[in-house]
Amino acid sequence: MDKKITVEMCEERKTPPSVEDLGFGRTFTDHMFVMDYESERGWFDPRVVPYSPLEIDPAAAFCHYGQTTFEGLKAYRAEDGRVLLFRPDMNAARFNNSNERMCISRMDPEFFVRAVKKTVEVDKNWVPSRPGTSLYIRPFTIATEIYLGLKPSSRYKFVIILSPVAAYYSQGIKPTRIYVETDYVRAIKGGTGMAKTGGNYAGSLKAQSRAAEMGYDEVLWLDGVDREFVEEVGAMNVFFKIDGKIITPSLEGSILPGITRDSVIKILRNWGIKVEERRIKIQEVAEAYQQGSLEEAFGTGTAAIISPIGELKWNEMEMKINGGEAGEVASKLYDYLIGLQTGRREDPYGWTVEV
Ligand SMILES: *Cc1c(COP(=O)(O)O)cnc(C)c1O
Repeated sequence: MDKKITVEMCEERKTPPSVEDLGFGRTFTDHMFVMDYESERGWFDPRVVPYSPLEIDPAAAFCHYGQTTFEGLKAYRAEDGRVLLFRPDMNAARFNNSNERMCISRMDPEFFVRAVKKTVEVDKNWVPSRPGTSLYIRPFTIATEIYLGLKPSSRYKFVIILSPVAAYYSQGIKPTRIYVETDYVRAIKGGTGMAKTGGNYAGSLKAQSRAAEMGYDEVLWLDGVDREFVEEVGAMNVFFKIDGKIITPSLEGSILPGITRDSVIKILRNWGIKVEERRIKIQEVAEAYQQGSLEEAFGTGTAAIISPIGELKWNEMEMKINGGEAGEVASKLYDYLIGLQTGRREDPYGWTVEV
């Protein structure tokens, strides 16, 4: 798709706020990307325009039936001033998989990357440079046909918004406390668990808020049929280190295929560390804990990159992992990935892409 992306600049640029005041996902840049779809025309009118509210008809399909998809990636500022993306082709491919599952028209993956690059380029001055900070990129699609009947929409809007974000860990990498959810479930095979689509997250809020009330940071989801096998954490994939081996649940349709997960598996294997992708029972994790062989647990995702798990609560059992401290593998992975993403370290994989 060699469509030309038009640019309409805003009249007055805002001054990006100081990074310490940013937090996550509440501040947005001067511009956004918008493109429309009609079944008779395909995707058309790609444009970067001043950031502004969208005009939405109250009968637009997504307001009622949740036909939406999204992606999440980051742009990092290198020490020499360059702006780098991390594996955006993987986001493009996953976006199409999500769209396919949700009956939304696919998009040329190269165009997806071009649209991301163009939008970031226009608001390049918003990419913060302090260690750990980044510009979070949120591409998404909403179904906009004005119709209350239940069917795949014939109209869509694809939008990209940008949000400068503070360092996830302001005082060093910090382990989380995780509640293993045994009542509610996130996804089942045949459902939409492998798609980044709104409903998956709406459905997870109940368990999340219950866990938060009990003082936990996140929930660990178990399989939706027997609540026996480990799936993932909130918006992160999960890894365990048992007896020197790294184990992560295999992708079987109900788990979101994380790009950080994929990167971590490749890096570990390159380091000569054994990684098993397979089904793993929470019982196996608990037994390893009791035998003293559960050495580490951590989550992986674009927001935190690596999030060590300091505590897992499963029914009556409280597992304090590695004395509640970040483990060696988790810490090493975090430093390595941040180094790659910010161009501080040489990239033998060809994963970083300059804007
Ligand atoms: C986005 C997401 C992840 C992590 O994916 P990354 O590509 O590594 O950011 C994991 N689980 C869920 C449910 C997610 O939405």
